[in-house]
Amino acid sequence: MSQLIFHVDVNSAYLSWTAVKLLSEGRPDLRLIPSAIGGDKDKRKGIVVAKSIPAKQKGVKTGEPVGLALRKCPELVLEKPDFDLYRKCSAKFMDICRKYAPALEKYSIDECFLDMSGTENIYPDPIALAYKIKDEIKNTLGFTVNIGISTNKILAKMASDFEKPDKVHTLFPAEIETKLWPLPVGDLLFVGSATAEKLRKSGIKTIGDLARANIGFVKSILGNKMGQMLYDYANGIDDSPVRTSAREAKGYSISYTYEEDITDKARAYREFLALTEKVSSRMRSDSVKAYCITVTIRDTSFKTNPTRRSSPSQQT
Ligand SMILES: [Mg+2]
Repeated sequence: MSQLIFHVDVNSAYLSWTAVKLLSEGRPDLRLIPSAIGGDKDKRKGIVVAKSIPAKQKGVKTGEPVGLALRKCPELVLEKPDFDLYRKCSAKFMDICRKYAPALEKYSIDECFLDMSGTENIYPDPIALAYKIKDEIKNTLGFTVNIGISTNKILAKMASDFEKPDKVHTLFPAEIETKLWPLPVGDLLFVGSATAEKLRKSGIKTIGDLARANIGFVKSILGNKMGQMLYDYANGIDDSPVRTSAREAKGYSISYTYEEDITDKARAYREFLALTEKVSSRMRSDSVKAYCITVTIRDTSFKTNPTRRSSPSQQT
């Protein structure tokens, strides 16, 4: 029996969430003016972590220094990120999704997968259901999401990335050739700019080119593991299950994007200690222990370097 998977993705999450809060305080809607989250306007320091569509139209890019963004767009309204607010907004929209979905996997702070398989008798029309969930989030929480629908996670995720905001898209296997294959290869999940460049140099320009390429050739460019995975994704193949939130709840994490680069070791250790203290205080209040600790560092080009450390003995 084929699966039915939804991917729900908040549109410009950090910007939308801050916008909804400021709107409730009588401030103008950040989504309708050139605005961005991140950095410090007075010091002209830090980087842009999210931007509005009007800011995008002025050339403001995510990840660029605030000073550069302000030169492109002097009227840019800058707001600081508020991660406590973001965690609350994240929990609220996922609670709405949970009302309808037998299984939910939190994929990131603003994205989740819903396994809707076997719900045909309760919800005979999955597209109508996706609209209902999308509209309920918009009407009760004030921000919009995209929902992608398909038979597995990769296709549902690719579908939610089609035209934004506030849209429902399907990408069923029969639609792969027309909706997925014409896209540039760099649009495929996990194809970063370096991988896309390697593929383009080898004549693979679209996702369809990758799907129809010789698998041996793809592996010779990207290595066996990565080559096979991306080749499968381009062909819409993915059998990974939706991991329910019961398993999700076993992990405790915290992350923070700094308004300025941290370049000295002493400061890095201080910040690291502060984050560790925050996450461990949550764990203490839940009376849980950890046996595996993962540290992830994201650099100025938004590249992520995970390092994993496991300790044999349990520790709080
Ligand atoms: Mg998003």
